[in-house]
Amino acid sequence: MAEELILIVEDNEKNRKLMRDVLQFQGYRTAECENAEHGLRLAVELAPALILMDIHLPGMNGIEALGALRADPATRGIPVIAVTASVMPQDRQMVTSAGFDAYQSKPINVKEFLKAVRETLDRPSKAGKSP
Ligand code: MN
Repeated sequence: MAEELILIVEDNEKNRKLMRDVLQFQGYRTAECENAEHGLRLAVELAPALILMDIHLPGMNGIEALGALRADPATRGIPVIAVTASVMPQDRQMVTSAGFDAYQSKPINVKEFLKAVRETLDRPSKAGKSP
């Protein structure tokens, strides 16, 4: 059974609850927070197997948070999936080129979301590769 720890960084409570519920139903363990700054601290403290990162967050945004995670040797190897309501093609392009391991749009499609989570967890780590 899946039991990896997944960190959810999302300021919208409903979205957080939905992701938490579907992940826990699959057997994953979850941790969560409402902003990127807290997410960076939890990433170091908990060393999650995967981070789900909202892009639009109060304070530091998800793209800036990804940069901070990649800049820290302690968190560099943690895969990060962008989860964003952005639907404009240029937004999606920006998210893709920022270096996220995967992208999921909100509202999430549960089946696709869980598939992306599993595939990202199973993919060999990018750690150590140059950006
Ligand atoms: Mn948000």
